[in-house]
Amino acid sequence: MSTLDRRRFLSGSAGLAALSWVSPADLAVGHRTDPSPSAWAALDSRMTGRVLLPSDTAYATAKQLFNPRWNSRMPLAVVQPATVGDVQEAMKFSAAYDLIVAPRSGGHCYVGSSTGDGVMVLDVRALKSVTLNSAKTQTTIGAGAGLYNVHVALAKAGRTIPTGTCPTVGTSGLTMGGGIGPEVRARGTTSDRLVSARCVLVDGSVVTASATQNPDLFWSLRGGGGAQMAVVTDLTFLTHKTTMLGQFSISFPATAAAKAIAAWAAFSASSHNSTKVTLSLNANSTRTAFLVRMHGVTAPGDQDTDCDALIGMVGVTPINRETKVASYMDTVLDIANGNPNPKGRDFTAGSDVLTTVTAATGTALIAAVTEGIKRKVNFQTLIGPLTGMTQAVTATATAFPYRSHAALIQWFCPIPTNSTTAYSAARSWIDYAHGKVAGMSAGGFVNYVEPGRTSSSYFGPNLTRLRSVKAAYDPANRLKGSLEY
Ligand SMILES: Cc1cc2nc3c(=O)[nH]c(=O)nc-3n(C[C@H](O)[C@H](O)[C@H](O)COP(=O)(O)OP(=O)(O)OC[C@H]3O[C@@H](n4cnc5c(N)ncnc54)[C@H](O)[C@@H]3O)c2cc1C
Repeated sequence: MSTLDRRRFLSGSAGLAALSWVSPADLAVGHRTDPSPSAWAALDSRMTGRVLLPSDTAYATAKQLFNPRWNSRMPLAVVQPATVGDVQEAMKFSAAYDLIVAPRSGGHCYVGSSTGDGVMVLDVRALKSVTLNSAKTQTTIGAGAGLYNVHVALAKAGRTIPTGTCPTVGTSGLTMGGGIGPEVRARGTTSDRLVSARCVLVDGSVVTASATQNPDLFWSLRGGGGAQMAVVTDLTFLTHKTTMLGQFSISFPATAAAKAIAAWAAFSASSHNSTKVTLSLNANSTRTAFLVRMHGVTAPGDQDTDCDALIGMVGVTPINRETKVASYMDTVLDIANGNPNPKGRDFTAGSDVLTTVTAATGTALIAAVTEGIKRKVNFQTLIGPLTGMTQAVTATATAFPYRSHAALIQWFCPIPTNSTTAYSAARSWIDYAHGKVAGMSAGGFVNYVEPGRTSSSYFGPNLTRLRSVKAAYDPANRLKGSLEY
């Protein structure tokens, strides 16, 4: 079996589906190059970190991801490098044995691509140092550092970078998909602040990717998705000063949804980039109605004016209105629901990027969430702006393509662990929701990658270049990635 065929065979559910046509002889060939226990032991002895095999007690825990849906996958080994040299050893080893490699950072991939049956998981979580240059204008962060720990380390020096909201998402996984969070209007995506990255290539060599060194690789690391070209070991970003931040929260009855969507869109299209408002249309706890909520993060002092301006634009008396000002770190924690180390959970999700938000968009969104209630699906519909500094970069300047778009919708469905019924119901509703906005959607967001969606819908005009960078850096397609270009 060629590496390419084996890669398809090994990639999770596609692999299971493939069982019906793969003969036992093919399986034997596919396993021909699996390293022996003594070969793994020799790799372990060359590393500061360690190699965990299925026979090791720590293996079962080490292979777990955030979403327990993927925990039944059986990688050949979980390799835990402690140094860049270890990553090089592991990559040389994987090249010698023609192994498929699934790098793992925070383990939050929506389709479980940082694990897999028969792959070598390369878990970079021990690479988590956070340092600042002497002027504190740049930080270098280990690929495996979780976002909350990054904020804690930088805030001690009064600095920060724009990130996503989940405290345990990995810095490298977030950045390679773009990275969208509370400061997206004020600062752009996380990847827009990337200055350079150190990477180990599939042959084990170390390179720097920046505007001047390996510029194609650098371009693709900013939005092309994880595990496509190389294993990132650390990333250097521009920092900015932390400040106090304002927040507001407004709830409206479902009957105000159309007016709330229109007001949110007008507010998010304004040049007031220091405020980012997320609009959510979420099922209530009994799934008998949906609730409309706006959560804003503002410059300190703007929270009351922005909150009241939005209420005025909606023109409906809110059910609830709250504002506050807090330190940068308290705000980071508030946005993480007060928990820096959330327990993993089962979910499935999807996304749509909208070029504009019109009255027709409002009608489509309301139809989608009304159908979710009718079907009793547990859903959250989270709508965030892609305006402001995200639009200061052109669509082809980095791999992240959405540079003139109004909004990103995430259709997010928490489900009871490993429930196939709830999973099917959620996927069916997400498909329905996609259908409702189909004529308005420019595609999906690769950080919210979902099953069954083609790569062309994530990268717009950038897919052709991504394919050619992939061919140059990983010609045998040994890095697993969350999707095939
Ligand atoms: C609860 C939750 C909240 C989220 N919130 C946000 C948000 O606010 N904004 C946002 O933009 N996204 C958000 N995400 C999505 C998240 O950014 C993506 O799922 C991201 O890919 C996760 O990165 P990770 O390192 O945690 O995951 P992993 O599963 O470890 O990695 C993701 C992908 O990157 C690859 N990879 C990991 N490390 C490396 C490396 N060192 N070198 C090369 N490839 C690597 C993996 O193989 C995999 O393909 C959220 C996800 C969850 C589950």
